[in-house]
Amino acid sequence: MSISSQSLWITDSKNTYPKLSQERSCDVAIVGGGIVGVTTAYLLSKVGKKVVLLEKNTIGSGATGYTTAMITQYIDIEMSKLVELFGKGVAKKIWQSGKDAIDCIERNIREEKIDCNFIRLPYIVYAKDEKEREELQEEQKAAKTIGVELTFANNGSLVLKNQAKFHPIKYLRGLANSACQNGAQIFEKSEVVDFDQKSLIVHTKDRSVSAQSIVVATHTPFDGPKTLTMKKGTYTTYIIVLEVKKDSISEDAMYQDMHNPYHYFRIDKKDTYDLVILGGEDHRSQIPVSAEKSFKALEEYFTKLFPNVNYKIRAQWSGPIIETADGLPYIGSIEEDSSVYYATGFSGNGMTFGTLAGMIILDEICGKENPYAEIYKASRIPSPSQLWNKIGDYTEEFFEGAVKNI
Ligand SMILES: Cc1cc2nc3c(=O)[nH]c(=O)nc-3n(C[C@H](O)[C@H](O)[C@H](O)COP(=O)(O)OP(=O)(O)OC[C@H]3O[C@@H](n4cnc5c(N)ncnc54)[C@H](O)[C@@H]3O)c2cc1C
Repeated sequence: MSISSQSLWITDSKNTYPKLSQERSCDVAIVGGGIVGVTTAYLLSKVGKKVVLLEKNTIGSGATGYTTAMITQYIDIEMSKLVELFGKGVAKKIWQSGKDAIDCIERNIREEKIDCNFIRLPYIVYAKDEKEREELQEEQKAAKTIGVELTFANNGSLVLKNQAKFHPIKYLRGLANSACQNGAQIFEKSEVVDFDQKSLIVHTKDRSVSAQSIVVATHTPFDGPKTLTMKKGTYTTYIIVLEVKKDSISEDAMYQDMHNPYHYFRIDKKDTYDLVILGGEDHRSQIPVSAEKSFKALEEYFTKLFPNVNYKIRAQWSGPIIETADGLPYIGSIEEDSSVYYATGFSGNGMTFGTLAGMIILDEICGKENPYAEIYKASRIPSPSQLWNKIGDYTEEFFEGAVKNI
């Protein structure tokens, strides 16, 4: 069997929704149909807002179609760093915001009866040696200072209970369908070429949509606002999907190591075999790294971790990760009193943060206070210590990751 270069989740590229073929007006025009765009459309439609969503390809054809869809509160900034750089109060809120986002996903699935293989399961951070085990103990201590009790497994791994995973495209399609039942209008194959910040008119090549608010949900903001562009960087991450004998890897959980860049995997149990979806080898996208070497490095990583497990590689792909200068996403408007909202920079946590973006933008458009809006606001400037931390992180990622795969 040859190795597919297609993501597991995307089974076809046919559009479900029509192309925008006439002028429209609405309360909120959303550009982009990934987890941010569709979640925002759904939540706004639920409170009676008239929504038009414009997607240049098909729903879920961007990063959301290439994700590993592990839904966790354990974000790409370690707990100890989170507390050190943001303070206990903010770190606690960040942790709580992740929980609220996971609960929101679960609620959407339950209320809309979306069949998307959602399950709650533990997220496990594992150490390779004594030094890393000690670092995990520091993680546990830092978590405790903000009231979060993390437990250890017998082998010294840190266990975070009650996280989740799902099939991202089934979720997105279900949510998009519910949004439409609430009156939202979705158009695929409808690329937005520009919009006017003042008149709030969004243009495709030959049609336009006028709105009261605009949500730019294109992962990297397609209009490239300088203030955001300068505060973020794009990385490439790699995935291989391995078919292994049923139950050859015991605990059904999601996993992450402590390497920088880290490796991550989930195990999906099928009737007669299991799939391990393993990712990592991230690097700044501008660095000319060999994709083949990166996939090979992932395979070697797997064979070292599970030397006795036979496997065959079913698929491999890569995709973009956007990191911000302080490690937290930018959500909301760039300028005060603007009706244009952005959501970008989710690192490897776009399921949680992308959902949170929908929740925050919903409140902002409805004029409701959101407890997390201030933390994630797109206009914030990173502090020198946050920037310094990111530079250190980047250097380590380069020397421990990218350089070996060039
Ligand atoms: C390999 C990989 C593994 C990952 N694993 C995880 C994980 O396990 N857990 C996790 O939480 N996150 C993970 N992430 C991150 C997560 O997938 C992303 O952060 C998230 O999907 C981003 O969602 P989005 O809606 O912002 O962007 P997208 O899903 O990219 O959606 C943006 C949409 O906008 C459309 N668009 C762009 N420009 C225009 C335009 N001009 N007009 C109209 N439409 C436009 C695109 O076609 C696209 O569909 C992973 C990412 C990758 C690549």
